[in-house]
Parts: sequence; structure tokens; C-alpha cells
Amino acid sequence: MDTREYIAIEDRYNAHNYKPLDVVLTRGEGVWVEDVDGKRYMDFLAAYSAVNQGHCHPRLVKVMVEQAARLALTSRAFRNDQLPLLARELCELSGYEMMLPMNSGAEAVETAIKVARKWGYETKRVRDEQAHIITCYGNFHGRTITIVSFSSEEGYREGFGPFTPGFELIPYGDIGALKAAIRPTTVAFLVEPIQGESGVVVPPEGYLRAAREICDQHNLLLITDEIQSGLGRTGKFLAAEHEGVRADMVTIGKALSGGMYPVSAVLADRDVLGVLQPGDHGSTYGGNPLACAVAREALKILVDEDLIQRSAELGEYLCDALHQIQSPHIQKIRGKGLWIGIVLKPEAGGARRFSEALMEYGLLCKDTHGNVIRLAPPLVITRDEIDWAVERLEKVLSVS
Ligand SMILES: *Cc1c(COP(=O)(O)O)cnc(C)c1O
Repeated sequence: MDTREYIAIEDRYNAHNYKPLDVVLTRGEGVWVEDVDGKRYMDFLAAYSAVNQGHCHPRLVKVMVEQAARLALTSRAFRNDQLPLLARELCELSGYEMMLPMNSGAEAVETAIKVARKWGYETKRVRDEQAHIITCYGNFHGRTITIVSFSSEEGYREGFGPFTPGFELIPYGDIGALKAAIRPTTVAFLVEPIQGESGVVVPPEGYLRAAREICDQHNLLLITDEIQSGLGRTGKFLAAEHEGVRADMVTIGKALSGGMYPVSAVLADRDVLGVLQPGDHGSTYGGNPLACAVAREALKILVDEDLIQRSAELGEYLCDALHQIQSPHIQKIRGKGLWIGIVLKPEAGGARRFSEALMEYGLLCKDTHGNVIRLAPPLVITRDEIDWAVERLEKVLSVS
């Protein structure tokens, strides 16, 4: 079957909740993927940073296959021999005292919200049912009803109400707005260190540090959603480290499994995650041995292949190269590490047509928020491969 046939079948039988580029991929290796017609592409999205370690990393494939053949799922009714080791390794790597494993990113965010509310009632002594959580315009934290309850994206909400109460939105990057929104019942501020889905929006220097201080002054939990920004994407293990900030709770996911399997987690210290008692929260697949074995290896690869430092260095290299491009369409280029948004001028006619043109040249990336081309290649990319990509970006962006 060829591309057209696969697309026709998908359109007929699969819900239309996405509008993907018309490329049907069938295999991948490192930064490269291949479609069903045998055409090769460089992946410059890396499944929204889930594939930081590159497609089908041989070490991940090996662990995945071996663990699948040994033991895949026990449920948390019983213990398994992988969860304790992942928990210890993740805590040692991140500097947090505890972790809680889930599957998708949205579940990790839901978990963090539940923990923050319970912490608010038990530790901060907020009146029952009154817990208030501050979040930011332009956020992306997932797609559950509770999470879209505080989305500012109309398309994510329309038709899905009634929504979960207890959330308030403030402008991203605005410290005054954070101060003004705090009430006696506020338990947490939930924020992305860089807003990915919004178009790789980097807040003003010092924003997270100031938010940390305010959370301390008012006894709120600072929750950073690092599902996309974490695990090396910005050139640090967690993006909050750029400002020397340690959040009270962190959600991670995506690259935690290197794209092999859905694995997410919440990180926090004992005084926060310790509010959960047996029976309070759970997930059939959360913490399963297959997930834990894969996550352990994915983390080891980040360290062994020095992918975090790589992201910092090659990110700068890519950013410099992009700044050399003479283009009538580029308004600005922003980002950190190998995570870059090319913001197009309003008259450029949107980013989608550029993503489509880049696809023709063999480079896959994703437009986001209408006028931003988002670049996030696997962190295993080489300088030569970056040059290859920049050549294509230049071709597409320099024509008027
Ligand atoms: C992708 C993402 C999520 C949701 O993760 P899923 O695995 O798709 O549920 C949450 N927060 C951020 C910042 C993300 O990028």
C-alpha cells in the first residue's frame, strides 16, 4: 500500500482529532525516519521531545524486548523488581526524595494537581473544597477535562464543559500578575519553564526565580511541568535549572521512555508526595516493570551519551546557523538548547505551508500556534545533520 491508501483508510476509520502532515512513517533510526514509499526524512520534532534519545535506540530496543519477555505488568497490587530501581535512580538524578510513576503526561499533571490539593488541605490547612491553583495563559498541560478546564485555547475546551473549578489563569511571564492572583486558599502555581505548545515561548529572564520567591513567601507549591522541557531538551536536565530554581513538584514524561512506551512521573520531596496514602491514587499500568525498565535505560542513555550537554552546545550551533538565514518571513528566533521556535511575520501566511514545503525537502517539523515553526530534533543529532537541516530550512524560508 502507498501513502494515499493508508491516509484514506485512516481518514475513514480513525477519529479526526488530529490534522497530521501527509507522511506515513514506517521505520526510524536515530534522527531519521522512512515513509511507506521508501522516502527518508530527518525528524525535527522528535515526537514533541519524546524521542530525545533518537528513534529505536538499540539499547532501548534491547531492554524493551528483554523485559517484555521476562515480565511486563504486575499491577501495583504486587511489587516488581524494576520500580524500586527506577525510583532510586530518578531521585538520585533529579535530587528529589520521591517519585510517583504514571503513564501519560496528562496523568502526571492530574497527579500533581491532586497532590497539591491534598497538600493544601492537610499541610496548609486550606478550607475544604476551596483549593485554588494558578496557571498561565498559553499553557499546555494535556487534554483531560480537568486540564482543559484551565486551558486558554478555545479549541481544546469548546464542547467539553462543564469544567473543573479551582483554577485561575494569569499572563505568562508576568510576576505582578502572580502576586495579584494569590489568595489565602491558593495552594500552587503550575507553570511550564518554557511554553512548548504555545510556540517555544521563553519567559523573561528571572521569571521562574521570582516565582520561586513568591511561592515561598505565600506558602504555595511551585509545580513545573517539564514534560516537554525536561530531560535535556533545553540543555539542562530540568529547564528550571537555568535559573537555579528547584520546584516543589515536577512532572516529567515524554523522553522518560525515549519514545518506547508511555511513562511519566511526578517528582517531589517527602513532605509533598508523602500526603498520598494507600488507596488515594493509582493506575493499573503506572510503575509497571516494562515501563520502569525502559525508563531506567532511557535515563542512562541521557547520561552515557552526554545528551544534555549536547543539547546545550548543538542548540547554540543551530540557533547561530538559523540567524544567518536571510529570510523575508522570519520575525524572530527563540528557544533554549535544541528547542527552537522560528516565529514568522504575520504576512508570511502561517507556518503550515512551510512545514509542508520542508516535508517535500525531507525535513519533518511542526507548525504550532499558527505562525511558529517548532524545531526539536532528537538530541543525538550531529553537527553534519544540523547543517543538512539548515540547508533545507534556508531553501524554504529564503524564497518570498
Ligand atoms: C505533551 C505535554 C503534556 C501532555 O502529555 P501527554 O503524554 O500527551 O498526555 C503535558 N504537559 C506538557 C508541557 C507537554 O508538553
